[in-house]
Amino acid sequence: MPANVVVIGSLNMDLVTRAPRLPRGGETLIGHSFATVSGGKGANQAVAAARLGAQVAMVGCVGNDDYGVQLRDALLAEQIDCQAVSVVEDSSGVALIVVDDNSQNAIVIVAGANGAMSPAVIDQFDAVLRAADVVICQLEIPDATVGYGLKRARELGKTVILNPAPASRPLPTEWFASIDYLIPNESEAAALSGLPVDSLETAKTAASQLIAMGAGKVIITLGAEGSLFANGKGFEQFPAPKVKAVDTTAAGDTFVGGFAAALAAGKSEAEAIRYGQIAAALSVTRAGAQPSIPTMSDVQAFKP
Ligand code: ADP
Repeated sequence: MPANVVVIGSLNMDLVTRAPRLPRGGETLIGHSFATVSGGKGANQAVAAARLGAQVAMVGCVGNDDYGVQLRDALLAEQIDCQAVSVVEDSSGVALIVVDDNSQNAIVIVAGANGAMSPAVIDQFDAVLRAADVVICQLEIPDATVGYGLKRARELGKTVILNPAPASRPLPTEWFASIDYLIPNESEAAALSGLPVDSLETAKTAASQLIAMGAGKVIITLGAEGSLFANGKGFEQFPAPKVKAVDTTAAGDTFVGGFAAALAAGKSEAEAIRYGQIAAALSVTRAGAQPSIPTMSDVQAFKP
């Protein structure tokens, strides 16, 4: 079956070290444990959409190293179409993560092969995009490629989602006209709008600003408070299901993947937001990124 959700984005190997505390400059610490875990926001959202019911294709680049093989295999294991995952002469993207005993972390991301995602790669796999209903982008590949991917997906009449993560600066204004659903978290919404976002009221003001800048609809995710939907006519707040949070890594990625999968299955916006929120809530009850992402049957079995 052709993919109905296409993710254009990053694949990173997460190198996760646990240590009593974060090291200071020049210091060597003895850690507790180490694990390599497949990640990257693009790949995480692809896995989320696949587990949550979509036929998914990934457009991305990995390096010609062992991590590249593992990153691709992790997607293939989820039945994700990887014909548009190219192997390039570079190291795969990595995220060096240290987590301390208080769950504080410090992260260094090296783009590696993700930096080879050029607009030409999107043109090369135009047929993959054409087959899709929903196209998702994030910001862990070069800006020029994100902008081109959004524009091309819009030209092809797809439903276009941008999860502007990680964002610490405004987006190019010409991108907005191509975006159907802009899905930032609170800090991303603040960076994009230039306004503070720390409450439902300030989130409403920022969402209105992002719509005034040209985004079609905006969903600001608010952590345990759920999310705020804005369409330029009004707002709707969707409270998050109450769960015992263990690890919020990939909550946003799970929400985006679940929302996209539900839209591609023909659900309404409100149903898609509720579905994404149950999936994201389940993900925070489990440790890790990709390992924490639930399946469609987990969501269907969820009792609030
Ligand atoms: P990010 O992971 O990108 O920082 P958020 O923290 O806003 O994004 O979380 C994304 C979504 O995950 C939220 O909109 C919510 O639906 C869900 N979520 C996050 N934290 C919790 C929590 N503690 N309890 C329930 N749901 C949560």
